[in-house]
Amino acid sequence: MAPLTDSKKTCEVSEKPRRSKIWQALQTVKDPEIPVVSLVEMGIVRDVTLTERGEAIVYITPTFSGCPALHVMQRDIKERLAEIGCKSVAIEIRLSPPWSSNWISDEAREKLRQFGLAPPPRHHGDFIGLADISTAVCPRCDSTNNTLKNSFGPTLCRAIWYCHDCQDAFEQFKPL
Ligand SMILES: [Zn+2]
Repeated sequence: MAPLTDSKKTCEVSEKPRRSKIWQALQTVKDPEIPVVSLVEMGIVRDVTLTERGEAIVYITPTFSGCPALHVMQRDIKERLAEIGCKSVAIEIRLSPPWSSNWISDEAREKLRQFGLAPPPRHHGDFIGLADISTAVCPRCDSTNNTLKNSFGPTLCRAIWYCHDCQDAFEQFKPL
């Protein structure tokens, strides 16, 4: 837990918070399911606005609408923004347009790979569903000599592949 160094600052009009500061703070809120990447890097945080009263509104699009991590995300965002003195925070969930794995930043893709989770391949919006999962790159050896074992891994967001070169399984964050 970071020390509350500037807890006197509030989101009141008299001390208008800067959106950039809020974005900065949100950069440190991790994805509850993949703690090596932030909600911003995953493209889950879509926008931040400030009302005239100084209330911060954070718009998020969860990766899967049923993701049980949603409540954790909302709590973590509010806690983090409270730490920078932003007491009044509303979180709005945007389901349209639906989250796309194309929104994952390049930095986050590299972090996923180092975490041992194959990043989803980029697609051109013509992705048609699970049957379309045809490629994965092994995060250990970069091999594409893989077979899909299970399209639902430990969470809905992940598929399990088997790498024939490593002769071991790995998980992939599914394209969406
Ligand atoms: Zn491999």
